[in-house]
Amino acid sequence: METALNQIKLARRVTDIRVSPSVAAAQKARELKAAGRDIVDLTVGEPDFDTPDAIKQAAINAIRTGDTKYTPVNGTTALREAIRHDFATRLGIACGLDGICVGGGAKQILFLALMATVEAGDEVIVPAPYWVSYPDMVIANGGTPVIVACGEAEGFKLTPAALEAAITPATRWLVLNSPSNPTGAAYREDELKAIGAVLERHPHVFVLCDEIYDRFWYAGFPARSIISVMPGLAGRALVVNGVSKSHAMTGWRIGYGAGPKPLIDAINKLQSQSSSCPSSISQAAAAAALTGEQGPVAEMVALYRQRAEWACARLNGIDGLSCREPDGAFYLFPNCAGLMGKTTPEGKTIGNDLDFVIYLLESVGVATIHGAAYGLEPYFRLSIATSMETLEEGCERIARACSALR
Ligand code: PLP
Repeated sequence: METALNQIKLARRVTDIRVSPSVAAAQKARELKAAGRDIVDLTVGEPDFDTPDAIKQAAINAIRTGDTKYTPVNGTTALREAIRHDFATRLGIACGLDGICVGGGAKQILFLALMATVEAGDEVIVPAPYWVSYPDMVIANGGTPVIVACGEAEGFKLTPAALEAAITPATRWLVLNSPSNPTGAAYREDELKAIGAVLERHPHVFVLCDEIYDRFWYAGFPARSIISVMPGLAGRALVVNGVSKSHAMTGWRIGYGAGPKPLIDAINKLQSQSSSCPSSISQAAAAAALTGEQGPVAEMVALYRQRAEWACARLNGIDGLSCREPDGAFYLFPNCAGLMGKTTPEGKTIGNDLDFVIYLLESVGVATIHGAAYGLEPYFRLSIATSMETLEEGCERIARACSALR
């Protein structure tokens, strides 16, 4: 068996991509913990809260009442109706039930959207810092990611000029993730309008709006989707969302998208030949999540906000670090440029952000992810989806490690 596996020739679409660096970092932290090391794990990109009880109960009811069979490929009517209502009332996005697809997580919807549209020679614009999966999803589907650096001076956001410069006749998509993983930066209405104006000049470019964190919102300005401020772009946008983060349901695997019917049909066609449909039980739970009492979501968001404010202030008090306040999501992306070139007590030089996160892990047992994994150095990402005690302990240790550098 082993020999046969060793002889398998893997396809380029596999050999050309990486295992997600955040998954690898979380795995490393788990291994060190299992080996008895005292690790404060700040790598995790999922809520530390349990799925609210009412949602679990909806899943139990689905099991008891025999809602345990294949569903329509594009998801149950109940769930699509709940999504339609959520998009309309929260974001002002109008779509019909046949303009919505449901899959095994937002990740799967994004992947299928690219699979449905991207071929060799096609380009996808990915603003950096980016969620680690975007470039690899593009590569896995034969396309070329075009990375556009969005520095801290621009609030880690894509400017209209940078977008204009990146568009070529081969551009198929712009990926717009707001609020962003890893920076927490979100686009304001005027910024969305300016980006939309560029897209209007290039009708061959579609926009992939990943708004999975849009309920985790701390900014003083309102949460908007580019489609709500530029409805004219609706014919060439896919708005992607899901319940993983918002309702602490990462393991249930439900994500969805709303977009033009030909694109939704293509995504459904691919799903019909791959997974058939997402779990019927998870769909029942997700419908309950979207239509039920939203109190638990508001409570979770209030706690994330408290943690973000506290941790950001704490990190800004550490010599050599500076941290921009996130507008949303549940990550901080501190700048560690002030520590580059310094020396550890063991005599090693911190030459880049990977050296720094390895130093944090080895010297004080704090697991984070280096900025280069997200396409921008020298930064590191830490997740605030962890208890306040863990966050306090993690920040104390980071402070200790930074003050030991010379
Ligand atoms: N989009 C972004 C920006 C994410 O950070 C993640 C998860 O980390 C996802 C999508 C995937 O979400 P889901 O669990 O719905 O697949």
